[in-house]
Amino acid sequence: MSEVSAFKPRPLSATELHAKPSADYATKLAETQALLRRAAAEFQPITQASSLGAEDVVITHLINALALDIPVFVLETGRLHAETLALLERTEAHSRAPIEVYRPRHEAVIGFVRDQGQDSIYQSIELRKACCQIRKMEPLARALAGKKAWIACLRREQSKARAEGPLIDESEVATKGLTKFNPLANWSWGDVWHYIAENRVDYNPLHDQFFPSIGCAPCTRAISLGEEFRAGRWWWEDESAKECGLHVKPA
Ligand code: SF4
Repeated sequence: MSEVSAFKPRPLSATELHAKPSADYATKLAETQALLRRAAAEFQPITQASSLGAEDVVITHLINALALDIPVFVLETGRLHAETLALLERTEAHSRAPIEVYRPRHEAVIGFVRDQGQDSIYQSIELRKACCQIRKMEPLARALAGKKAWIACLRREQSKARAEGPLIDESEVATKGLTKFNPLANWSWGDVWHYIAENRVDYNPLHDQFFPSIGCAPCTRAISLGEEFRAGRWWWEDESAKECGLHVKPA
């Protein structure tokens, strides 16, 4: 084999591929910082929900950089990738803000696996949602109990279902007493990666392998060129079903 044909280009990292800020990035960043300061000052007790994805690590970095009184929680479902668990350990070690880890009830997980089987999540939306209920929704309810507000990392360009996401979502104030902040709602994917590159933020290496959205290992795959942002999540289901319930609005 000749030297020329043996040459393999180095794959580009996610920062090299995506870090392209919008023209108004500086304004967006200043608005996000102001919103986070206001949330911490006026909405205690408040918490950040982090799945340790690119958007989440940006928010956690901002909370730490601004020294805000906002703890961070992670839902450790028991089915996360090894890369995500390793990032969780590093985040726990280095974060100024406390990192709280919520796990599903052991007996509920054992019961589901015994009665339905580990792979039943691929059989029907109902069984997949039952797994999400046990591993995500019930721990989420514990994480949010007694809170006045929480910070999520939804961006409008992530999916059609999220296209109208407000910066401050008050749709659950009447029913649950909870305000939800989406400080990155108007950030582009390029903005997110520009922040990560500029501030050398630690991130999940799965992003370097074309996983833009990272959830549980059995329910997340890499995407191909031209596929939608969340195409790798629950890829065997209809687009309309592609939420685990964390960010589904009440009817
Ligand atoms: S994302 Fe998949 S593995 Fe994770 S809780 Fe939902 S169904 Fe279960």
